[in-house]
Amino acid sequence: MKSWILKDIDQEIEKIFYPYVKIKSDTFSEYERKIEGFLKDFFCSIDYFKDHLEHFGAYKIENDPLKRSVSWAFIKGNGEDTVVLIHHNDVVDVEDFKILKTYAYSPKGLERELIKMKDDLLSEAQKDLESGSYIFGRGTADMKAGGAIQLALIKRYTEIKNMKGNILLISVPDEENISAGMRSAVLLLKELKEKYKLNYLMMINSEPHQRVNPDIGILSEGSVGKMMPLIYVRGFLSHIGKVFEGFNPLNLLTEIVRRTELNLELSDFVEGEASPPPTWMYIKDRKYHYDVSMPLSVGGYFSILTLDRDPAIMVEKIKKISEDAFSDVIEKMNEKYKIFRKKTNKPFENLPWKVKVVTFKDLYDEAYKNYEGDFKRDYDDLFKEIKDQVEKGEISIVESNFTLIEKIFEYIHDLSPRVVIALAPPYYPNVANIYFKEIDHKGKELSKKLIAYAKDNLNEIYEREHFYTGISDLSYSSIRNSKEIIKSLEGNMPLYGSSYAIPLKEIEEISMPCMNIGPWGKDFHKLTERVLKKDLFDKTPKLLHRAISILLDWED
Ligand SMILES: [Zn+2]
Repeated sequence: MKSWILKDIDQEIEKIFYPYVKIKSDTFSEYERKIEGFLKDFFCSIDYFKDHLEHFGAYKIENDPLKRSVSWAFIKGNGEDTVVLIHHNDVVDVEDFKILKTYAYSPKGLERELIKMKDDLLSEAQKDLESGSYIFGRGTADMKAGGAIQLALIKRYTEIKNMKGNILLISVPDEENISAGMRSAVLLLKELKEKYKLNYLMMINSEPHQRVNPDIGILSEGSVGKMMPLIYVRGFLSHIGKVFEGFNPLNLLTEIVRRTELNLELSDFVEGEASPPPTWMYIKDRKYHYDVSMPLSVGGYFSILTLDRDPAIMVEKIKKISEDAFSDVIEKMNEKYKIFRKKTNKPFENLPWKVKVVTFKDLYDEAYKNYEGDFKRDYDDLFKEIKDQVEKGEISIVESNFTLIEKIFEYIHDLSPRVVIALAPPYYPNVANIYFKEIDHKGKELSKKLIAYAKDNLNEIYEREHFYTGISDLSYSSIRNSKEIIKSLEGNMPLYGSSYAIPLKEIEEISMPCMNIGPWGKDFHKLTERVLKKDLFDKTPKLLHRAISILLDWED
């Protein structure tokens, strides 16, 4: 199995890991571009790439406000079979570090500081700190560790003479944001596939894995999907002294929130695995200054993780839940109104409100029916303006969605209360190897072989899961039902296809099984983020190298 490749690999990894962590590469910031320089220098220092300048580069992300690129390196061996290694090079910010911010990217210094305040840490973090078995720091686990392992292996692989198969390494920014890097990388994958006639066997990511049982490591053969339903509720304005003449949208939206938050009907269950139930991330009324009326409208969005279901089905479900919530709110309002009237000896009549829940597409179509070309022209003009603002980072994606919905309302005759359901970016398809009808036999047996290898050679117990639930760029390694997904995104995600694109057709063309093989890490995104040294320097590189050897048929 070309065992010389792994000789002193720990030193190779160490040389890459610490400088890689040192670069502050906060997601969606100009800092991410520093990584591109680092990787360029790294590839340029390797003889193979010096001789093959066309085999690595920085692939520009189109229309990116921060002008970022995807870094890549390709080792061309013999034949078509190709393994794709991906990792993300951005990290989340260090707000959590408070007074220790200056040490966030310097694991050794941070360790010294953490020891001084160890009594303030949670007991598990304290124990791990004292054990000396972990490396602490922003990005250590998530995921400069996995990145450094891949880079170290790539460097060694360039030394193989007459290598069987090909290896492509892709390092992307923006994973912690909306995966602009990976969505562009799909286009690069397609270009390289056509240029070199590649057969992509598998996409391997090296995100850190978490453990439920500390003795059992996890390999993932898929990745959870994610969608972000956006709910806009338009009420009917009234003075707060005349509440029964109005309809307060806050009342309805909060009812919808209650019924969707942690709602297990919106979780998927596949082969004994479950997607974590939905949670709300943002709610805001559309009132910009105080006055004595209720807000006219309010909006927010929540996140749904999926293992199986598509957006169209989820939107239907949310529609039904919203209708039930709407009807309940009206009923309760009527009950209170009845008592209110009775106590003042006035006759009672039901309030005029009716349940009305529509999708973004329904609302758009209604406005178009009313004003046709005039509406479309005005909408398109505003859309262009908004698109520019989004790309310049002057307006958030969510705010832009609300602005577009409000524009459409200008062309709607029926201004009675209603709920509008749309989808906000990002959208991550759910992917899993169990959904592949045909997988090359080497790929199909891979997790089984790796589990056996880990047990016999690394003295480690590993298990396989169908879905990585931490959300990862592996979501863009394949797609099912792309036609239906495109249809529901085109209709209900206002920014789809312009400011926010997912190359679904290209994903279909490059479609390949996937796997996550990464080190054990803890407390990602927190002050006590850490990675297990033993995995970083020893176990994970062996496991990853084994996987590549199996896939590319490298003999023992
Ligand atoms: Zn990550």
